[in-house]
Amino acid sequence: MAEISTRRRGFFFDRDGTVNESPGPGYVLSWRDFHLLPGVHEMLAALRQSGWIPILVTSQQGVGKRLMSQADLDEIHARMQQDLGEAAFDGIYVATGLEGADPRRKPAPAMLLEAATEHHLDLTRSWNVGDSERDMEMGRRAGVPHNLLFASPLWPDWPTVMNYWRAVNANEAR
Ligand SMILES: [Mg+2]
Repeated sequence: MAEISTRRRGFFFDRDGTVNESPGPGYVLSWRDFHLLPGVHEMLAALRQSGWIPILVTSQQGVGKRLMSQADLDEIHARMQQDLGEAAFDGIYVATGLEGADPRRKPAPAMLLEAATEHHLDLTRSWNVGDSERDMEMGRRAGVPHNLLFASPLWPDWPTVMNYWRAVNANEAR
């Protein structure tokens, strides 16, 4: 029991269409095309303040397709982290391989399991937000109970997600 209580709560973010504006069917190939969505920064700051561990989990097949290099991708993430400052993600997990050839790609739970090990997270008390059904399936397969489909009628934006997250936490604390 003591072991469980030392594990922290993770909050998993999908990237494109969840943290930054969706590039549509294509890929974000440079920092110039990376635009944070409203409310993401505030959500990250709130998580940080509450002791939660925010983690970015993303499939970036553009690298596997050689539309961009690993260095290009790393630079986008480095600049994102710099912009976020104290609200930066604790971890960034990326599957860059091609569909069907990368066992870490969503909806496989691999990246969440890696994050749980490396950051000592309790997946059964963690949350996962993403804008595709693959994100939801990944979370369910990893045993995450809260999987919110972002940009849907129920969870249209970050303020809505943050209000719900705060309400659930307040309820758990009573
Ligand atoms: Mg997405």
